[in-house]
Amino acid sequence: MPCDPLKDAVFQAIDAEQETLVALGETLYAQPELGYREHTATREVAGLFKRRGFEVEENIAVTGMLAKPKVSRPGPVVSVLGELDAIVCAEHPHADPVTGAVHACGHHIQVAIMAGVAMGLKAAGAFDLLDGSVNFMAVPAEEFVEMAFRARLKQEGNITWYGGKQELIHKGYFDTTDIAMMAHALDLGPGPSAVIGATGNGFIGKEIRFTGKEAHAGAAPHDGVNALNAAMLAMMNIHAQRETFRDEDHIRVHPILTKGGDAVNVVPADVCMESFVRGRTIPGMQDASRKVDRAIQAGAMAVGAASTIHSMPGYLPLLTVPELDALFKENALPFCGSRIIDGAEFAGSFDMGDLSHLIPCLHPFTGGVSGNIHTREFQVTDMASAVLFPAKALAGTIIDLLRDGAKKGKAIIDGFSPRLTKTQYLNYLNTTLETRRMDEPADKEKKEQFS
Ligand SMILES: [Zn+2]
Repeated sequence: MPCDPLKDAVFQAIDAEQETLVALGETLYAQPELGYREHTATREVAGLFKRRGFEVEENIAVTGMLAKPKVSRPGPVVSVLGELDAIVCAEHPHADPVTGAVHACGHHIQVAIMAGVAMGLKAAGAFDLLDGSVNFMAVPAEEFVEMAFRARLKQEGNITWYGGKQELIHKGYFDTTDIAMMAHALDLGPGPSAVIGATGNGFIGKEIRFTGKEAHAGAAPHDGVNALNAAMLAMMNIHAQRETFRDEDHIRVHPILTKGGDAVNVVPADVCMESFVRGRTIPGMQDASRKVDRAIQAGAMAVGAASTIHSMPGYLPLLTVPELDALFKENALPFCGSRIIDGAEFAGSFDMGDLSHLIPCLHPFTGGVSGNIHTREFQVTDMASAVLFPAKALAGTIIDLLRDGAKKGKAIIDGFSPRLTKTQYLNYLNTTLETRRMDEPADKEKKEQFS
């Protein structure tokens, strides 16, 4: 590795903070909070940044925080992100017994990485030397869960959008960011390792309700309209669409029943489903979403039930910027040697996808954990390496982007053509948000007419 005094000083400073960073990760792990509820995590992170002399704005979107160094230098603005929220995985041995929340997606590691970058750059005096500035944002609600809770937050005027980055884009927190970056944990085996250039699916979320008519399930099922049968048919109808999904669109539709009935001796009259419709492109997602709606309505129609489909903009597909990935790779190589996978396609979704449609984004995956994310097997095998290596590689990338007149950073910013402007993006969110109601078929009234 060629001699680079500034990077060396930053890396040493990050190593010197190992205890603090590991403690931060462990503290967040010990108190998992779901999206828009990350009050304790926000306090922890904000407290640390304040103690280290950063200017901190707390609760930027219900929770979350934005930290800036006191010195701000002219030039591009890089934002380093860390997601605050846990996921629900009640089967996990460390899940909160009440909420089922656990950091089984490693977001607590991201926050410690972000703090590591901040502390390393600050201690080495990098903020005064770079031709641009660096912000640190602890962002809420990456996992798209707890719809009812978020609907209430929205009703009360506390949020407009369910996803944390959606909300922060809407609120203008990324208006002045030129490049955003973070590192997400993934099981990559022991030792420092990384996946770069990874793309991800976007998705449209759906809340579905079938309304039938209750009746005694034994004595008079003929008087009822079975909403559970409507839901079952809807699922079969969705399965029948699968052969029409194109391989290149990477469509995934995975509905679940969240309410199947009220009592076993009553014909189910109120049945609820949820689904994501995931895809690699916006038109692909929209095409699959229309087919899913059709399948749901056909299920309802078959048994004479009514249906309501509430579609919500989930996240956009994750896009990559090869030049940014290449720069990260250069900075990761000294730590992980050949253990870098270049290019991967994830069928899962990340709200960094939304931001990646607007500005250049870097979203590598880094190791130090084992087990699949969102499962009971997920665990941190080595908190120190899970945090220190990515913090150094991101800090090194920032130094390369912003030094020498921010030549490299400006080249990436100038060469980037956003897939959407902010106005187009907000338009997409608004038009994807829709409720389709289909009343029960009219044959009931006809029957009454002729009887
Ligand atoms: Zn995650």
